[in-house]
Amino acid sequence: MNQKHVVVIGSGFAGLSAATHLAVNKSCRVTLLEKNSTPGGRARKFEHQGFVFDMGPSWYWMPDVFEDYFAKFGKKPSDYYDLQRLDPSYAVIYGKDKVLDIPANLEEFKKMLDGIEPGAGKQLDEFLAQAKYKYEVGIHDLVKRPSRSLLEFASPGLLVDMVRMDIFQSMAKHVRKFFKSEEIIRLMEFPVLFLGETAENIPALYSLMNYADIALGTWYPKKGMHEIIKGMVSLAEEKGVSIRYDAEVEEIEIENGVAKRIRLVNGEKIEADIVVAGADYHHVDKHLVNPKYSNYSEEYWDKRVMAPSSLLFYLGIDKKLDNLRHHNLFFDEPLGPHADAIYKNPRWPERPLFYASLPSITDPTVAPEGKENMFLLIPLAPDLEDSEEMREKYYHIIMDRLETITGQEVRSHVIYKRSYAHADFKADYHAFKGNAYGLANTLTQTAILKPALKNKKVGNLYYTGQLTVPGPGVPPSLISGGVVANEVMKENNL
Ligand SMILES: Cc1cc2nc3c(=O)[nH]c(=O)nc-3n(C[C@H](O)[C@H](O)[C@H](O)COP(=O)(O)OP(=O)(O)OC[C@H]3O[C@@H](n4cnc5c(N)ncnc54)[C@H](O)[C@@H]3O)c2cc1C
Repeated sequence: MNQKHVVVIGSGFAGLSAATHLAVNKSCRVTLLEKNSTPGGRARKFEHQGFVFDMGPSWYWMPDVFEDYFAKFGKKPSDYYDLQRLDPSYAVIYGKDKVLDIPANLEEFKKMLDGIEPGAGKQLDEFLAQAKYKYEVGIHDLVKRPSRSLLEFASPGLLVDMVRMDIFQSMAKHVRKFFKSEEIIRLMEFPVLFLGETAENIPALYSLMNYADIALGTWYPKKGMHEIIKGMVSLAEEKGVSIRYDAEVEEIEIENGVAKRIRLVNGEKIEADIVVAGADYHHVDKHLVNPKYSNYSEEYWDKRVMAPSSLLFYLGIDKKLDNLRHHNLFFDEPLGPHADAIYKNPRWPERPLFYASLPSITDPTVAPEGKENMFLLIPLAPDLEDSEEMREKYYHIIMDRLETITGQEVRSHVIYKRSYAHADFKADYHAFKGNAYGLANTLTQTAILKPALKNKKVGNLYYTGQLTVPGPGVPPSLISGGVVANEVMKENNL
C-alpha cells in the first residue's frame, strides 16, 4: 500500500498525541524525531540515588481529557498508570498560621468558604454551575476546533453559547461578582495562573478551570506524572510509531512550497510527505524553515504575551518534612508586584510567590525511605538573564520563607539539589525566550488569534503543541495533537 510518510518533530504530549492519532490511519507511516535522549519534552523525568523527579508538570487536572485520549485507541489510563485523587487537593499558605487545606469534597469545600465569608458556599453553587457549562462547551467542543477560520464559530447556537461563555469579561471581574473576601478571590483566581496571565487579562470563560479544580479534582498518577508519557510512548509504539531519540532536526527542507525532507544535525536526511512540528513553534518557524517560508515575523513573535518561564529546584531531603502537603501554594506575599515583574516591567521579583510540590508525601516510590522529594517553582518573566548567583539568591529567599512558615530547618537537610531556569529551557527544548508554558491564553491570543496550526505557504507543514491551539498545559497539548492529526487526515484525504 502506498503510505504517506508523516514525520512528527518532538516527543512532548502534543507530538506523541499527533503521532499516535496518525499512526492508526492505515494510509500513514509515522516517524517521530526527538532531540533529547528521553521522551516527554517538558514532562521528562530524571533520577538521582532513589529520588525520581518529574521535571515539569505536577498537577493532573481534567481526568476526562486523559480518558478521552486513551479511549480513542481502545484503552484506559488505568492500562498504563494508577490514579489517585488527592485530599486535600492542595494547601494555600497565606502565612505562618494561615493555611487553607482545600478539601476534595464539595460540601466540605463550601463549609470552608462559609467560614471565611458567610454565604460564600451558596455563591459557589451558582459560580460552579456557570463554570460547568463553560467546561462542557469549552473542553468538549471549542478546544477541539482547529481555529483556522471564524466560520468554524459562526453557528447561531454557538454564538449564543459564546455570550454565556463570558469571553469578553475578565476573570478578575467575574470572580468579584460572586465573592468579596480577598482570600477566596485569590483562591478562585489561582487556577488561571496556569494559563499564563493574571486574572485581569484572562477571559472569564476560563472559570472552567475552577470547575476542573473544585468539581473534577486534583489527581496523581502513582510513580509520577512521567508515567503518562511512558503510557503514551508505549501506546504510540504499539500503534506503529517509530520513535527516534537523539535525533535533533536542523532543517525542514522545502522545495517550491512543499516540505520534502528533514535534515538532522548529524547530516542524515529523512524523506517526508507530511511534517507535523511539535517542537516550540517559534523555533520551527524561525530556525527550522527557510525564512521565506516563516509564518510570522520576529516582530510578531516579540509582541506575543508569553506565559512565564520559571526557576525550579529539584531537591532531595534527608528527612520527612512537617506542615506541608503534596501541593503547596505560597501566597504569603501579594500577587500584584510579582505579576508586575512578570508581565509589565520584566525583572526578578522582589518578593516572589512560589509553589512547592512534595510527591513523596503521597508516593513512597519517588524518594528513598524516610526522605522527601521536593520541587520548588518560582514563575518568572521570560527572557531574564539567569545566572548561578541569581538562582542561589532566590533559593535562599524562598527557603527562608519556607523554613519560617513551616517551622523547621530544611536547607541543612538538602542532600541533592539541581536548579533549572531560562537557559535550561532554551538548551533542552529550544524554548522561545526560555518560556516554560508556551503562550498566554489572553483574549487576543485565543482560537483563531493564536499562531496557526498550519503553515500559510507550505501546504504539507503543520504545527502542534502549547504555542498553537488550544493552548498551554498538558490536557490542551494532548488535544492539540488530536486536532492537528484530524486536519492532516482531512486535507490529505487519508
Ligand atoms: C515547570 C513546568 C510545570 C508545569 N506544570 C504543569 C502542570 O502542573 N499541569 C499541566 O497541565 N501543565 C503544566 N505545565 C505545562 C505542560 O507541561 C506543557 O504545556 C506541555 O508539556 C507542553 O507539551 P508540548 O508537547 O507542547 O511541548 P514540549 O513538551 O516542549 O515538547 C516539545 C518537544 O520537541 C523537542 N524538540 C525541540 N526542538 C527540536 C528539534 N529541533 N528536533 C527534534 N526535537 C525537538 C523537545 O525536546 C521536546 O521534547 C508545566 C510546564 C512546566 C515547564
